[in-house]
Amino acid sequence: MAAPGPRTTPEIAIVGAGMSGVLLGIRLREAGIESFTIYEKGEEIGGTWRDNTYPGLACDIPSRFYSYSFAPNPEWTRLYSPGPEIQDYLLKITDRYGMREHIRFGIEIADVRFDEQRERWQITTTSGERTDADLVVCATGLLHHPRYPQIEGLETFAGACFHSARWDHEVPLDGRRIGIIGTGSTGVQLTSDLAYRAGRLDLFARTPQWVFPAPNPEYPRPLRALLQRFAGLNRPGYWFWGRFMKYGIGRAVVEEGPQRRLADRMCRWNLSRVKDPELRAKLTPQDQPMCKRMIVSPRYYDAVQQPCVDVITERIERVEPQGVRTADGVLHELDVLVLATGFDAHAYIKPIELTGPGGRTLDEAWADGVRAYRTVGVAGFPNLFFMLGPHSPVGNQSLIRVAEDQASYIVQWARRIRDGEVLRAAPTQEATDAYNDAMRAQMPQTAWLSGCQSWYLGKDGFPELWPWRPERHEEMLAEPDLSEFDVVAPGR
Ligand code: NAP
Repeated sequence: MAAPGPRTTPEIAIVGAGMSGVLLGIRLREAGIESFTIYEKGEEIGGTWRDNTYPGLACDIPSRFYSYSFAPNPEWTRLYSPGPEIQDYLLKITDRYGMREHIRFGIEIADVRFDEQRERWQITTTSGERTDADLVVCATGLLHHPRYPQIEGLETFAGACFHSARWDHEVPLDGRRIGIIGTGSTGVQLTSDLAYRAGRLDLFARTPQWVFPAPNPEYPRPLRALLQRFAGLNRPGYWFWGRFMKYGIGRAVVEEGPQRRLADRMCRWNLSRVKDPELRAKLTPQDQPMCKRMIVSPRYYDAVQQPCVDVITERIERVEPQGVRTADGVLHELDVLVLATGFDAHAYIKPIELTGPGGRTLDEAWADGVRAYRTVGVAGFPNLFFMLGPHSPVGNQSLIRVAEDQASYIVQWARRIRDGEVLRAAPTQEATDAYNDAMRAQMPQTAWLSGCQSWYLGKDGFPELWPWRPERHEEMLAEPDLSEFDVVAPGR
């Protein structure tokens, strides 16, 4: 039986209206493709920047570079902008590019299944609504399933207790006894803020992390006014910080060399600013800098040296109504307990059920570990793409830049479908295996295997990050390599 004819108006379903889903919509519209819908389970765009509203939230990538390349923001107030500014920026871009008319809010996708008869994906929402798509893009993000710690008695705590990504703004903080569990980027940013507001702050630091000392100066108003007036003046900032990240930390995390040595020294120097040797010992990581995500903070070590702050490395035994009891028998009495315990970064599109041709599910395809093709595709799953999916995070780089590479790549496939060159295409198993083998061969060069535990490592023990220089991501996704795809043309 001949394959169906060309899909000149391909239906494209984008799951998630975060930074990457909205970006793809903008790029599709630029390519003259308007037949796309962005499904968003929340009531607003923004993903992680919508969900995270904790005090001290900021982005650890310079904002001039943590921007869409085509939409500089003259209004950034600081080198590293606070979270609410980033969400405001994303809201403005969504409106400026008319994306709201393409977004369906409050719609949660439950099931995505390839219908072999009709050669299309069938999508079912949690309310039972069904729709078809010629191309499906999972732009569901990496860090959106809060990870709650398994600590005995947590539910018995009598004060306020919440995850950092589910901040309860009704709870007063000033002058109160606050506990924070976790010393990742979130715990560090929270501590840097709350140390100056809490009556007492207990930081439960199971594993200390290295902290890179980057200053966070404010952009003076006259400069912001100038950038506002002359749009072209925004370009050098994007260019400069892009190169700074690419040739600096972008090299340091994936290869030996002067950048890694310098970053290492700067972290160690930063730590040496902690005067009390006992506190310094508590804050000294056992692994190498950059083994976990490099934390960037100009204020953390000042914050932990505030008199009201106690860094507790003793193991947490249990939580009781009055507070946290540690293994040494001490009860740390608290009014508020914040769980800065991270996210399940390996959930990917879960709980969505995804079933490809032949009834093969994504869970089955990834039963032995996540295997993607060039961060965007999965062998045997046609017309299905990921944004910020497996191996997408490029160590301490702007995820916006990463998403832009992926969006341009996906748009090229969408164009091919629209132009009748392709009905469906899926990466071959051989190409996927070759790519994964190359990636794993590169992993030992990275800093992520130097003996630490973090969400960076998958269940197969390999990091979930991009192990090469950042520019290779751009090169690898510059153009689809058709020889690495099983392509079916319309009507064949
Ligand atoms: P995280 O890096 O996964 O850190 C979780 C912390 O919670 C760790 O210190 C962990 O200790 C601790 N923890 C977990 N369970 C625990 C338990 N049962 N008892 C005691 N401690 C426990 O999470 P995150 O800080 O939320 O950051 C997640 C990611 O979000 C980051 O890697 C980063 O990519 C992103 N982020 C970025 C920014 C930014 O500025 N761009 C800001 C915030 C977050 P162990 O290390 O011992 O497991």
